[in-house]
Parts: sequence; structure tokens; C-alpha cells
Amino acid sequence: MSSEFYLLVNGSSRPGSTGESEPVLNPATGESIGRVAYASAEDLDEIVATAARGIREWRAVTPWERGRTLKRAADILRADVEAVARSLTLEQGKPLGQARIEVERSADFLEWGGEQARRIADRVVPGRVPGSRIEVQNHPIGVVAAFTPWNFPMALASKKFAGALGAGCAIICKPSQETPASVLAMARALLEAGVTPAAIAVIFGHAGPISDHLIAAPEVAKVTFTGSIPIGKRLAAAAGAMIKPVTMELGGHAPVIVCGDVDPEQAADVLARAKFTNAGQICLCPSRFFVEESIRERFTARFVAQARALRVGDGMDPATQMGPLANARRLEAITRLVEDAKERGASVLAGGERVGNRGFFYAPTVLADVPDEAAILHEEPFGPVAPILPFTDETEVLEKANGLEFGLASYVFTNDARRQRRLTDALEYGVVGVNGPLTHYPEAALGGWKESGIDTEGGIEILDPYHRIKHVNIY
Ligand code: NAD
Repeated sequence: MSSEFYLLVNGSSRPGSTGESEPVLNPATGESIGRVAYASAEDLDEIVATAARGIREWRAVTPWERGRTLKRAADILRADVEAVARSLTLEQGKPLGQARIEVERSADFLEWGGEQARRIADRVVPGRVPGSRIEVQNHPIGVVAAFTPWNFPMALASKKFAGALGAGCAIICKPSQETPASVLAMARALLEAGVTPAAIAVIFGHAGPISDHLIAAPEVAKVTFTGSIPIGKRLAAAAGAMIKPVTMELGGHAPVIVCGDVDPEQAADVLARAKFTNAGQICLCPSRFFVEESIRERFTARFVAQARALRVGDGMDPATQMGPLANARRLEAITRLVEDAKERGASVLAGGERVGNRGFFYAPTVLADVPDEAAILHEEPFGPVAPILPFTDETEVLEKANGLEFGLASYVFTNDARRQRRLTDALEYGVVGVNGPLTHYPEAALGGWKESGIDTEGGIEILDPYHRIKHVNIY
């Protein structure tokens, strides 16, 4: 069945004014599942003007009612989980069970944004002149331009919709054109729940011209992006030139430090699951496995067994545990990283090659003897490849763990309380997983350090990036 994924503007779906569109591919087959409409510059002018009207209407809705509306949208999404999860699997490739979790998690974010809207509270500070006071008021920042990726197309967009709409902003979201269906489904749930139609736009098209256009538009007050560090730098520079604030959730290259005191088999089971979920296309995913020499052999043997046992296939098949990579670019990138490591002397303990010649499948891969200069130890792999690296000295392993420009996620496995404290304190990362996997739940803020980002998403702070403060001094 082929679908048309149109622009969603002011509550209506429509093609772009030039009629331009691109096919959307199912990564399990490489075949088209429909076409996505591209917005032209003319469309963008109209979309920005609509959003500027939308924010005037939506910010006038009380925070209490905005909260009710976002909660209703979450319920609508949950009621439709099966259909939405299927469209997510078809466009992104992940196994259906993982797609269902993503839809549920997206609903949780919308609900959480709504709950926090109900807790918006301005502050009154006594003034220095007797009887005077200062009000510190939260105001919606304005129209938000949001750029979201293809790995968790719905969940990563839900954080931005929840924060922006909860705060009373209008949002223009440009998801990846490779995964249009799930964000459109979420936006429709928001509209059905009663969000002002003009306050939501979902658009697709050529990423560069769209981001240039939106960031330069005077009506757009805030830029939020989830994706790669190079694109994040580009967007932050463009926004900085206009003195527009940004929220940047960028890439990572998560070190895992597995200490000799843990059960190696148990740690390998947990970490193999974390590594191969979503075919490794997760910014929080463990990607450099430093294992203490005393347990390295046992850990590696179990990790390899887990990688080999994984059932790779079409995400629509209930037996599938790992789906394809999301697009042909990832297949090329992973192939290049593994070939580079092999050429430099790495041994392939599992996988190491494409699976079949249809779709974008790559085998769960484990590498050993990877030299420091291999590209995979410096570039975010964003795929199902695990390099296992031995260590004996804690200072040295910390130096390596902290030695890159990334600062998103990291992991520590140890039952020694002092060592746990020492390592978590020393890791220069915004997120640390201790003795377990990492996922982002709405109730806790999360963001990257160093080049991995600016700002956080989620938590009681979820609305902060979408508010600006007005200081009113009353005598
Ligand atoms: P890319 O760097 O071309 O794009 C990254 C994302 O940014 C995509 O979603 C893309 O649609 C979007 N994008 C590209 N140019 C843009 C622009 N000018 N304005 C706005 N958005 C733009 O690479 P890619 O091949 O799509 O992804 C590869 C790398 O991206 C991965 O290796 C990973 O490092 C990173 N990535 C990170 C996340 C994350 O969750 N942090 C998600 C997806 C991709």
C-alpha cells in the first residue's frame, strides 16, 4: 500500500506548492511505501505566518487547559498504538515491539509536558523599596523551529512538541523526510485533542534550505535540533548569528567501563541488549566497551554468543529481534567503519558484513584487537557494532573514555561502591548508566556535555527551553 505524506499546516494536509515529492523507503525491503511532499520557499513563508498567528491563539489558552489537551493527545495516541507502531516499523525498520514502546514513550512525553504546563508558576520577589515587588514571569518564547531525526522519529519529536506546546508556543517541526508517518500521526493526535491548528506545522523538504529559511525568519524565536554534531554546529551558528537560543541534542560515543568485580555474563547480556536495540542507532547506545582484563575473555565470549544468536529480519515479523539499518547511508557508514578497523588489524568475532542484498541489514558485529587509530573509536558508529577493548589501569581507561569531543552517555559496571562513585564522578558525560541500560523517561532531564549538546530535554525543566522571563518591577 502506498501513501502520500503531505505537509500538515493549519490542521490540513496538502502537497507543497511546487508539487515536489520524494519516495519513502521501507528499510527492510528498499521499496517505496509512499511519497513525502516537499515544502517550497513560498510554502515556508505561509507556514511561518500561520505559526505566528497560532502562537497568539495557543498562548491565550490557560496552562490548565493546555495540560488537559496534551493529556488527551497522549490518550488518543495510546488508543492507536498498534496502527501507529506499524507505520513506524514500515518507515524506520525497528521491530514492532520496539515501535510500540516508542509510541507509548511519546505519549508519556506529551502527557508529562501537559502536567508541567499545569505547574507553571511565576515568582514574586520582594523589592528593595518598601511595599514594592518584582514579578518574575514565564512567557512562551515564540514560534519554535524543530528539526528531528529518523532513529526515534516520534519519541524525539514528542519531547519538543511536549515542551513547546506545554509552554504555550507554536511549533514548526521538520522531521526527517525518511520517516514522515509517525510524526504526522502524533501531530494529528494533538490536533484531534484540541491544540490550536495554526500552532502546529509538520513539514518536509530539503533540510538545508528549510533550516536556513526558518532560522532567518523574524517570527521564529527558538531553534531545537536532535541529530549529528556537524549539523548541530551549523544550525547553532546560524541561530547564534540572529541571537536566537538553541537546544541541541547531538551525537555521542558512549564508553562502557566494565570492572572485574561484576558477573561478566550478566553484564554482557545487559550490554548486548542495549547495544543492538534499534540496530545500534541510538545516541545513548554503548559504543566503546572497555572491559577489565581479568574478565575480558568471559565477557567477550558471552557478548559474541548474544550477538550471533540475535534474529535479524523484517521488523514486521514478530520473531525479529533486530531490524535493518534505517537507510542506505548507515549501511555504507557501518561497512566503512568495520572495513577500516579490519584493515588496521581488528579481528571480527561476530558479524562484520551486510546480511542479504535486499534492504539495509547489517549483522550484529563484535570487534576485538581494535587499534586506537581505528575510525570506529573516534566517529560515532550509530549502528550494530561493538568494539571490545581491554583495560588494566583505571586512570588510563578514564583518559580514553573522556578523550573524545563527545559528552552524552557513558556506563559503569561495578559493585564496588567507592569505585562506582569515583568513576561516575570522573566521567565527563551528561548521562551515566550504572549497572544497567539507559533510556530516557520524561520525568528526568537529559542532555549532552561538551560537543554533544546544549540544554536538556524532559524532567521538571521540560518547559524551560520554551519560556522567556519577563521581570516586572512594581512600586
Ligand atoms: P546528517 O548529519 O546528514 O543528519 C542528521 C540529522 O539532521 C538527520 O535527521 C537530518 O534529516 C537532519 N539534517 C541534516 N541537515 C539538516 C539541516 N541543514 N537542517 C536541519 N536538519 C538537518 O546525517 P544522517 O546520515 O542523517 O545521520 C548520521 C549521523 O547523525 C549519525 O551518525 C549520528 O551521529 C547522528 N544522529 C544522531 C541522532 C541523535 O539522536 N542524536 C539521531 C540521528 C542521527
